[in-house]
Amino acid sequence: MKVKHEPLASLCNAVNPQRLVQTAVQLVSAPSPTGDAGKAADCLAEILRADGFAVTRPAAGHPSSPAVAVRFDSGRKGPVLQFNGHLDTVHLPFVPPRVDGDQLTGSGAADMKAGMAAAVEALRALRDANALRTGSILLTGHDLHEAPWGFGQQLDHLIRDGCVGDAVLIPEPLSTQLPVIGRGAATWKVSIRRTGPPVHEVMRPKDEPSVIAAGAELVGRLERLNRQLAFQSDALAGSASLFVGQIHSGEIYNQYPQECWLEGTRRWLPGTAKETVKAEFRDILSRLEKETGVSIAADFRFIRDAFFLEQQHPFVSAFQQSYRAVTGQDLPIGPKPFVDDGNSFSADAKVPAITHGPRAGGQHTVNEWVSIDDLVRVAQVYALTAAAFCSSP
Ligand SMILES: [Zn+2]
Repeated sequence: MKVKHEPLASLCNAVNPQRLVQTAVQLVSAPSPTGDAGKAADCLAEILRADGFAVTRPAAGHPSSPAVAVRFDSGRKGPVLQFNGHLDTVHLPFVPPRVDGDQLTGSGAADMKAGMAAAVEALRALRDANALRTGSILLTGHDLHEAPWGFGQQLDHLIRDGCVGDAVLIPEPLSTQLPVIGRGAATWKVSIRRTGPPVHEVMRPKDEPSVIAAGAELVGRLERLNRQLAFQSDALAGSASLFVGQIHSGEIYNQYPQECWLEGTRRWLPGTAKETVKAEFRDILSRLEKETGVSIAADFRFIRDAFFLEQQHPFVSAFQQSYRAVTGQDLPIGPKPFVDDGNSFSADAKVPAITHGPRAGGQHTVNEWVSIDDLVRVAQVYALTAAAFCSSP
């Protein structure tokens, strides 16, 4: 820690590494696959209650695992800073927590229970050091984050219910850059069918269209769209895209198949309305349907909208100044390579969101790890950012 300024130094010193690690270990100990994160939510609620915080459990449309919310108020008017994280993990075999030197390992250690523990520790430090002079902190933890088992529905519900701050910190494991832009993402699956049953190709009805030919035509049209989308490009975030990941049809070489299905993704940049993206895709399908006589069913699923962070916002200055105070360096700006809750806060709640968390690895594998030293740093940056942002006019 490089903090010299006295009140800031005492706030940093109020971050207790043992308490932080213990919280992280407790959260990792509670298995919480997406959709079934109740155990981890109960665990977090219990930890916060034992710490003396007033905890509420908004169901937010998912009563089997209610979310966790704490409001910590200075009692004086000022901005609300939100610490937000998901408590669910991808569906992989459960790995219990283990501390080995600087590393904590186990399910959700990287993504993102240890980051959540750092946010909890920042909240405790702000209270213990009496460092929140104005404004308040809203801490939220929720389920239904990880696709394809969840699509952010519980967070969307919380946002609709107004459970949202004026700015948000999200401790996902991204530590080397400040993400300022990111693409929105959707997945799609298309099924192309004809009416008759599968038959020997010599028996095929003359008036029935070929699902394979229609599928091939669709791939060509989607690839043309992808080439046009490449012109919509951002230096940091990359290009808008339409990607075909798989195509399947047929059983054997001389049977006339009934179905051809394809699956892929669509990504877009901030400034493009997600409804437009969906309508454009549907339009391609309905034209092909009319022209070829096949019937086409499509499942187009939004994962998250595009993300943008206004760099001139006082929240960003408060964060950068705090990051510099703790590390002695500036955090360079960069893209957000994945979609996360920050996309929902940015696009739906219209509040600035910074994804910043510990140095970690092995996300979405059974080998997750997180650096304990870096967790302490994250807790300090969060606490300092809160003290600075909540006292901004
Ligand atoms: Zn995550």
